[in-house]
Amino acid sequence: MSSIVLFGPPGAGKGTQAERIMISTGLPQVSTGDMLRAAVKEQTPTGLEAKGYMEAGQLVPDSIIIELIRQRIKLPDAIDGVMFDGFPRTIPQAEALAEITDVTHVIAIEVPDEKIVERICGRYSCSNCGLVFHETFNPVPESGCTCGNFEEKRRADDNQDTVLSRLSAYHEQTSPLAEWYDNLGIFHRIDGDRAIDLISTDILEALGN
Ligand code: ADP
Ligand code: ADP
Repeated sequence: MSSIVLFGPPGAGKGTQAERIMISTGLPQVSTGDMLRAAVKEQTPTGLEAKGYMEAGQLVPDSIIIELIRQRIKLPDAIDGVMFDGFPRTIPQAEALAEITDVTHVIAIEVPDEKIVERICGRYSCSNCGLVFHETFNPVPESGCTCGNFEEKRRADDNQDTVLSRLSAYHEQTSPLAEWYDNLGIFHRIDGDRAIDLISTDILEALGN
Protein backbone atom coordinates (compact mmCIF):
# COMPACT_ATOMS: atom_id res chain seq x y z
CA MET A 1 0.00 0.00 0.00
CA SER A 2 1.47 3.36 -1.03
CA SER A 3 -0.07 6.72 -0.38
CA ILE A 4 0.06 10.40 -1.26
CA VAL A 5 -0.11 13.31 1.18
CA LEU A 6 -1.63 16.67 0.29
CA PHE A 7 0.08 19.14 2.58
CA GLY A 8 -0.46 22.84 3.21
CA PRO A 9 -2.00 25.51 5.41
CA PRO A 10 -5.75 25.70 6.03
CA GLY A 11 -7.47 26.93 2.89
CA ALA A 12 -4.53 26.17 0.59
CA GLY A 13 -6.79 24.16 -1.71
CA LYS A 14 -6.04 20.60 -0.56
CA GLY A 15 -9.68 19.47 -0.71
CA THR A 16 -10.29 21.28 -4.00
CA GLN A 17 -7.30 19.59 -5.62
CA ALA A 18 -8.05 16.16 -4.10
CA GLU A 19 -11.48 16.28 -5.71
CA ARG A 20 -9.98 17.12 -9.11
CA ILE A 21 -7.11 14.65 -9.19
CA MET A 22 -8.92 11.70 -7.62
CA ILE A 23 -9.89 10.20 -10.97
CA SER A 24 -6.30 10.38 -12.28
CA THR A 25 -4.70 8.98 -9.15
CA GLY A 26 -7.38 6.33 -8.58
CA LEU A 27 -6.87 6.81 -4.84
CA PRO A 28 -9.68 7.74 -2.43
CA GLN A 29 -9.40 11.04 -0.55
CA VAL A 30 -9.02 10.68 3.20
CA SER A 31 -9.64 13.98 4.97
CA THR A 32 -9.23 13.91 8.75
CA GLY A 33 -11.14 17.23 8.87
CA ASP A 34 -14.14 15.65 7.08
CA MET A 35 -13.96 12.57 9.31
CA LEU A 36 -13.87 14.71 12.45
CA ARG A 37 -16.80 16.87 11.28
CA ALA A 38 -18.82 13.71 10.64
CA ALA A 39 -17.94 12.45 14.14
CA VAL A 40 -18.96 15.79 15.68
CA LYS A 41 -22.27 15.69 13.83
CA GLU A 42 -22.97 12.13 14.94
CA GLN A 43 -21.86 12.98 18.49
CA THR A 44 -19.60 9.95 18.74
CA PRO A 45 -17.11 9.87 21.66
CA THR A 46 -14.39 10.99 19.20
CA GLY A 47 -16.59 13.83 17.96
CA LEU A 48 -17.42 14.99 21.48
CA GLU A 49 -13.74 15.07 22.38
CA ALA A 50 -12.63 16.78 19.15
CA LYS A 51 -15.32 19.49 19.00
CA GLY A 52 -13.75 22.01 21.40
CA TYR A 53 -10.34 21.82 19.72
CA MET A 54 -11.87 22.35 16.29
CA GLU A 55 -13.96 25.30 17.40
CA ALA A 56 -10.88 26.90 18.91
CA GLY A 57 -8.82 26.32 15.77
CA GLN A 58 -6.42 24.01 17.60
CA LEU A 59 -5.16 20.63 16.51
CA VAL A 60 -7.04 17.61 17.84
CA PRO A 61 -4.74 15.36 19.97
CA ASP A 62 -2.54 12.95 17.99
CA SER A 63 -3.92 9.83 19.72
CA ILE A 64 -7.44 10.55 18.41
CA ILE A 65 -6.25 11.28 14.87
CA ILE A 66 -3.96 8.26 14.65
CA GLU A 67 -6.76 5.93 15.79
CA LEU A 68 -9.13 7.43 13.19
CA ILE A 69 -6.57 6.78 10.45
CA ARG A 70 -5.81 3.25 11.64
CA GLN A 71 -9.50 2.38 11.36
CA ARG A 72 -9.96 4.21 8.04
CA ILE A 73 -7.18 2.46 6.19
CA LYS A 74 -8.63 -0.94 7.08
CA LEU A 75 -11.59 -0.25 4.76
CA PRO A 76 -11.51 -2.10 1.43
CA ASP A 77 -11.18 1.03 -0.74
CA ALA A 78 -7.82 1.79 0.89
CA ILE A 79 -6.18 -1.45 -0.18
CA ASP A 80 -4.06 0.18 -2.93
CA GLY A 81 -3.37 3.32 -0.92
CA VAL A 82 -5.08 6.64 -0.27
CA MET A 83 -4.65 10.35 -0.80
CA PHE A 84 -4.41 12.02 2.61
CA ASP A 85 -5.79 15.54 2.87
CA GLY A 86 -4.90 17.41 6.06
CA PHE A 87 -3.01 14.49 7.61
CA PRO A 88 -0.33 14.20 8.97
CA ARG A 89 -0.17 17.54 10.77
CA THR A 90 2.45 16.76 13.43
CA ILE A 91 5.69 14.77 13.60
CA PRO A 92 4.10 12.03 15.81
CA GLN A 93 1.33 11.67 13.20
CA ALA A 94 3.94 11.33 10.43
CA GLU A 95 5.80 8.72 12.48
CA ALA A 96 2.61 6.72 12.98
CA LEU A 97 1.80 7.02 9.28
CA ALA A 98 5.22 5.69 8.28
CA GLU A 99 4.41 2.52 10.20
CA ILE A 100 1.16 1.89 8.36
CA THR A 101 1.77 2.93 4.78
CA ASP A 102 4.52 3.83 2.37
CA VAL A 103 4.23 7.55 1.51
CA THR A 104 5.54 8.08 -2.02
CA HIS A 105 4.76 11.79 -2.57
CA VAL A 106 4.06 14.75 -0.33
CA ILE A 107 2.48 17.55 -2.37
CA ALA A 108 2.86 20.89 -0.60
CA ILE A 109 0.39 23.49 -1.84
CA GLU A 110 1.95 26.82 -0.96
CA VAL A 111 -0.20 29.91 -0.40
CA PRO A 112 0.95 33.04 1.46
CA ASP A 113 -0.71 33.73 4.85
CA GLU A 114 -2.30 36.98 3.68
CA LYS A 115 -4.29 35.08 1.05
CA ILE A 116 -5.45 32.41 3.48
CA VAL A 117 -7.93 34.56 5.40
CA GLU A 118 -9.90 35.52 2.28
CA ARG A 119 -9.86 31.93 1.07
CA ILE A 120 -11.24 30.59 4.36
CA CYS A 121 -13.76 33.35 5.00
CA GLY A 122 -15.26 33.02 1.50
CA ARG A 123 -15.47 29.23 1.53
CA TYR A 124 -18.78 27.41 1.34
CA SER A 125 -19.81 23.96 0.16
CA CYS A 126 -22.83 22.12 -1.16
CA SER A 127 -24.31 20.23 1.77
CA ASN A 128 -25.84 17.77 -0.66
CA CYS A 129 -22.67 16.55 -2.42
CA GLY A 130 -19.82 18.16 -0.44
CA LEU A 131 -18.24 20.08 -3.34
CA VAL A 132 -16.31 23.12 -2.11
CA PHE A 133 -16.73 26.62 -3.61
CA HIS A 134 -15.59 30.17 -2.95
CA GLU A 135 -17.82 33.23 -3.10
CA THR A 136 -15.30 35.19 -5.22
CA PHE A 137 -12.74 32.78 -6.68
CA ASN A 138 -14.74 29.65 -7.38
CA PRO A 139 -18.51 30.27 -7.10
CA VAL A 140 -21.15 27.65 -7.71
CA PRO A 141 -22.06 27.85 -11.44
CA GLU A 142 -25.23 29.77 -12.38
CA SER A 143 -26.61 26.49 -13.68
CA GLY A 144 -26.23 25.11 -10.14
CA CYS A 145 -24.04 22.48 -8.52
CA THR A 146 -23.20 19.41 -10.63
CA CYS A 147 -25.22 17.28 -8.17
CA GLY A 148 -28.33 19.23 -9.22
CA ASN A 149 -29.42 19.91 -5.65
CA PHE A 150 -27.29 22.76 -4.33
CA GLU A 151 -27.64 23.77 -0.72
CA GLU A 152 -25.12 26.18 0.79
CA LYS A 153 -23.24 25.15 3.92
CA ARG A 154 -20.54 27.09 5.80
CA ARG A 155 -18.15 25.58 8.32
CA ALA A 156 -18.46 26.77 11.93
CA ASP A 157 -14.68 27.27 12.13
CA ASP A 158 -14.37 29.29 8.90
CA ASN A 159 -14.25 32.69 10.55
CA GLN A 160 -11.61 35.37 10.98
CA ASP A 161 -10.75 34.57 14.63
CA THR A 162 -10.40 30.83 14.23
CA VAL A 163 -8.41 31.14 11.03
CA LEU A 164 -5.63 32.97 12.85
CA SER A 165 -5.37 30.19 15.45
CA ARG A 166 -5.39 27.58 12.68
CA LEU A 167 -2.61 29.42 10.88
CA SER A 168 -0.46 29.55 14.01
CA ALA A 169 -1.09 25.86 14.65
CA TYR A 170 0.05 25.24 11.09
CA HIS A 171 3.26 27.25 11.47
CA GLU A 172 4.15 25.87 14.90
CA GLN A 173 3.11 22.22 14.67
CA THR A 174 2.67 21.28 11.01
CA SER A 175 5.24 23.19 8.97
CA PRO A 176 8.22 21.33 10.61
CA LEU A 177 7.00 18.31 8.63
CA ALA A 178 8.21 20.00 5.43
CA GLU A 179 11.84 19.44 6.43
CA TRP A 180 11.06 15.90 7.62
CA TYR A 181 9.62 14.94 4.23
CA ASP A 182 12.17 16.98 2.27
CA ASN A 183 14.92 14.92 3.88
CA LEU A 184 13.19 11.80 2.60
CA GLY A 185 13.29 13.25 -0.95
CA ILE A 186 9.53 12.98 -1.49
CA PHE A 187 8.50 16.61 -0.92
CA HIS A 188 7.13 18.56 -3.92
CA ARG A 189 6.39 22.28 -3.61
CA ILE A 190 3.56 23.60 -5.78
CA ASP A 191 2.65 27.28 -6.10
CA GLY A 192 -0.96 27.28 -4.87
CA ASP A 193 -1.55 30.97 -5.50
CA ARG A 194 -2.69 30.45 -9.10
CA ALA A 195 -5.67 29.21 -11.07
CA ILE A 196 -7.08 25.91 -9.80
CA ASP A 197 -6.52 24.07 -13.11
CA LEU A 198 -2.85 25.09 -13.37
CA ILE A 199 -2.24 23.75 -9.89
CA SER A 200 -3.92 20.42 -10.73
CA THR A 201 -1.72 20.05 -13.82
CA ASP A 202 1.44 20.62 -11.78
CA ILE A 203 0.35 18.20 -9.07
CA LEU A 204 -0.32 15.45 -11.59
CA GLU A 205 3.08 16.11 -13.17
CA ALA A 206 4.78 15.84 -9.75
CA LEU A 207 2.95 12.55 -9.23
CA GLY A 208 4.19 11.30 -12.58
CA ASN A 209 0.67 11.02 -14.03
P1 ADP B 1 -8.16 23.18 2.17
O1 ADP B 1 -8.77 21.82 1.90
O2 ADP B 1 -6.68 23.20 1.95
O3 ADP B 1 -8.56 23.75 3.50
P2 ADP B 1 -10.06 24.13 0.13
O4 ADP B 1 -9.82 23.23 -1.02
O5 ADP B 1 -11.28 23.92 0.93
O6 ADP B 1 -8.76 24.18 1.07
O7 ADP B 1 -10.03 25.64 -0.43
C1 ADP B 1 -10.25 26.77 0.44
C2 ADP B 1 -11.10 27.82 -0.31
O8 ADP B 1 -10.30 28.39 -1.35
C3 ADP B 1 -12.35 27.26 -0.99
O9 ADP B 1 -13.36 28.22 -0.89
C4 ADP B 1 -11.91 27.03 -2.45
O10 ADP B 1 -13.00 27.15 -3.35
C5 ADP B 1 -10.91 28.16 -2.64
N1 ADP B 1 -9.79 27.81 -3.55
C6 ADP B 1 -9.20 26.60 -3.69
N2 ADP B 1 -8.19 26.67 -4.59
C7 ADP B 1 -8.14 27.96 -5.01
C8 ADP B 1 -7.30 28.68 -5.95
N3 ADP B 1 -6.30 28.10 -6.62
N4 ADP B 1 -7.55 30.01 -6.13
C9 ADP B 1 -8.55 30.62 -5.43
N5 ADP B 1 -9.35 30.00 -4.55
C10 ADP B 1 -9.17 28.69 -4.34
P1 ADP C 1 -8.45 23.13 6.96
O1 ADP C 1 -9.41 23.74 6.03
O2 ADP C 1 -8.04 24.00 8.10
O3 ADP C 1 -7.29 22.46 6.31
P2 ADP C 1 -9.54 20.62 8.04
O4 ADP C 1 -10.91 20.31 7.58
O5 ADP C 1 -8.41 19.81 7.50
O6 ADP C 1 -9.34 22.14 7.80
O7 ADP C 1 -9.47 20.54 9.62
C1 ADP C 1 -10.41 21.20 10.44
C2 ADP C 1 -9.99 21.04 11.91
O8 ADP C 1 -9.99 19.65 12.25
C3 ADP C 1 -8.59 21.54 12.24
O9 ADP C 1 -8.57 22.92 12.55
C4 ADP C 1 -8.25 20.67 13.46
O10 ADP C 1 -8.91 21.14 14.63
C5 ADP C 1 -8.89 19.34 13.10
N1 ADP C 1 -7.95 18.44 12.35
C6 ADP C 1 -8.10 18.00 11.07
N2 ADP C 1 -7.10 17.18 10.72
C7 ADP C 1 -6.28 17.11 11.80
C8 ADP C 1 -5.05 16.44 12.07
N3 ADP C 1 -4.44 15.66 11.15
N4 ADP C 1 -4.50 16.61 13.30
C9 ADP C 1 -5.08 17.36 14.25
N5 ADP C 1 -6.23 18.03 14.06
C10 ADP C 1 -6.84 17.90 12.84
